[in-house]
Amino acid sequence: MYEQTWQYREALESAIMQSDVIKIFDNLLTIAVEEWASDIHIEPLENYCRIRIRIDGVLLELIQYPKTLHENIISKFKIESWQMRPDEKRLPQDARVSSVTLTNKEIDMRANTLPTVWWEKLVMRIVDKSKKIPPLSELWLEWSNEKIIYKHLSFPNGIILNTWPTWSGKTTTLYACLDYINKPEINIITYEDPVENKMEGLNQAQVRSDIWFTFANGLRWWLRQDPDIMMVWEIRDKETLDMAMESAMTWHLVFSTVHTNSAIETISRILNLWAKPYMMAGTFNLVIAQRLARKTCIHCAKEIDIKSDEKRQMAKKIFSNFDKDLLKKEIVSRGITKEQWSRFMIEWKMLKWTGKFDGKQCPICGGTWYKWRIGLFELMDYTDDIKNMLIEWKSNMEIEQYALKSWMIDLSRDGMFKTIKWLTDLDEIYRCVKMKHG
Ligand SMILES: [Zn+2]
Repeated sequence: MYEQTWQYREALESAIMQSDVIKIFDNLLTIAVEEWASDIHIEPLENYCRIRIRIDGVLLELIQYPKTLHENIISKFKIESWQMRPDEKRLPQDARVSSVTLTNKEIDMRANTLPTVWWEKLVMRIVDKSKKIPPLSELWLEWSNEKIIYKHLSFPNGIILNTWPTWSGKTTTLYACLDYINKPEINIITYEDPVENKMEGLNQAQVRSDIWFTFANGLRWWLRQDPDIMMVWEIRDKETLDMAMESAMTWHLVFSTVHTNSAIETISRILNLWAKPYMMAGTFNLVIAQRLARKTCIHCAKEIDIKSDEKRQMAKKIFSNFDKDLLKKEIVSRGITKEQWSRFMIEWKMLKWTGKFDGKQCPICGGTWYKWRIGLFELMDYTDDIKNMLIEWKSNMEIEQYALKSWMIDLSRDGMFKTIKWLTDLDEIYRCVKMKHG
């Protein structure tokens, strides 16, 4: 943890002892935001209670406190949040809360309670409205993937999808794409749930499924608003998919997300929503799958030998059927030096975080963490070849094999290049990417 958040941690401890719920949440929220955490868990266990926060995708225990305080904390929170019933303890409840941290940052939260066998647990997802969306150039998109994205952002119509596992950072990528094409001469409309970042120049609308304003209805309405580009938060039913395809056919560029694990899986997901392969071929431009991998803290990292590590075998296989010339081009264009390549692929050495700096605890990552995260990307470019294969009802496997042989940098290849470049390590790549090669 950063030194500057220690004071809030001490204040949190004394607020818990005094059962001062306002001080608890002010300090807790400030710690979480200053540490760039995404979620706060306040949870009862059998013998004690604890608070954990999720930083860079992994939970960290912040504090423990006696069980006798828990009921008071949860019920006061329910009252303070205005939207939860304090007397309802048997059913889950949720609420949206806006707040300001002690460091003066505006925060939106989605809070929800769940009754567990040891009383109710409270989880809060943090949306930091002061966080700036980084430009596309800072998202760790490298060479081939970068070229493909910029190509598709220049097209006037079609569908660009981002796949949707949790912790993937899809919001950031979608906003960065919209930001890149956001100009006064283009009308951009979004339908979101929730609107996470308000961006200048965009017409952003909040979906309200409870009062008819669903994704599909929103899209229908949107077509009357003279749009050029639109983003619909998620495609989860046939109606929304049909509307998105219709919009793409009538000369609009449509951004959206689907919930799949890889770019290739999206084909079966879309066909399962009763889309015709020729419709998909006619409207799909690009599918982006992504993950966030923790970045190695270079201040305390050391080179380690991975010769006896079994992951080394899988690392070798990842490039085995990739076109040799393309591989060479990719290595050079990503700025991987000859030395880095041979250190990894010949001597089998890799940079690995240790948590120690000059024998002492590393001050940069606190000795326990990798620092920050990098994106891993996998792009399925719907080229004419891929579209023909779709129309010919080729299987997902055949399409994927073809793409991998020809040009595709999938998640595991991107992760491997980034490991060779000393940005992250094999353990982290395997944690993030379900390997299909081993
Ligand atoms: Zn470190």
